[in-house]
Amino acid sequence: MCKWKGGDLVDISVGDVLVMKKQHPGCGSDRMKVLRVGADFKLTCAGCGRTFMIARSKCEKSIKLVLRGEDKEN
Ligand SMILES: [Zn+2]
Repeated sequence: MCKWKGGDLVDISVGDVLVMKKQHPGCGSDRMKVLRVGADFKLTCAGCGRTFMIARSKCEKSIKLVLRGEDKEN
């Protein structure tokens, strides 16, 4: 498992699942799947399926954990 707790840079790739520090308002899920990376990340909420763009720097501060590959759930 690729664990990451703020501070260190991590290469986030399409398909990674991010566990966020804050739950998504409304649905309560703290997991976001990465759809696109760049200056902004495009994420989809694992709970409600909503997609949204978030600035990379802002997103990185909000990440608690990165789940990747075989450790990915679902
Ligand atoms: Zn949601």
